Amino acid sequence: MKFSLPLVTSAVLIVAGITAYSFAFDPPKDSEPKTEPATTSTKSSKANTLSKSKKMSDEPIYNKLTPQEQRVLLYKDTDRPGNGGYTKNKADGIYICKRCNAPLYNSTHKFLSDCGWPSFDDEIENAVQRKLETDGSGRIEIICKNCSGHLGHIFEGERYTSKNIRHCVNSSSMTFIAKGKDVPKVIKRESVSDKAAEAGDKPSESAPKANSPIKSGGK
Ligand SMILES: [Zn+2]
Repeated sequence: MKFSLPLVTSAVLIVAGITAYSFAFDPPKDSEPKTEPATTSTKSSKANTLSKSKKMSDEPIYNKLTPQEQRVLLYKDTDRPGNGGYTKNKADGIYICKRCNAPLYNSTHKFLSDCGWPSFDDEIENAVQRKLETDGSGRIEIICKNCSGHLGHIFEGERYTSKNIRHCVNSSSMTFIAKGKDVPKVIKRESVSDKAAEAGDKPSESAPKANSPIKSGGK
């Protein structure tokens, strides 16, 4: 069999041409439009902003605090022990919460314990809330019942006074108002959850205070 040269050449050229064509027009594999989740991050940051502003509007505007007062009242830090602050104060008057102005202690509750912090053996009724520390120490933390600011700790059985109880309170948590001076208005916390708690869980008048077992027999 015999092929003429021009015929072979044209066949080769045709094959080459088809190959080149298919390479040139093969659509790229990744040309499909990509759907990017571009809106996800925007949405979540907007939600964060909303929840943040909602939370802030629930909280009343409390008194401005110094960095040390913030450390103590908000982050449970402790003042350095010593005779500074109100430790040795014996003046007549009332001790109120530095953050929300809620009356906490009368000067008649105060005694000198030499422990290095202001000490009280009683409290203004319904002012102070007790909480068991979660650090395993067994200590009882005391906080302002209105704003939940940290006050200090409570110790029983030390026999300092006949009431046998010591509220060991940081000076940074309190403001002393001397007798005869105006007591500032309490900045009430009234969030939705507090209102619900007040409505649904009112302790009866005759029931003994659940958080002060010593008081009932000590008076
Ligand atoms: Zn308070």
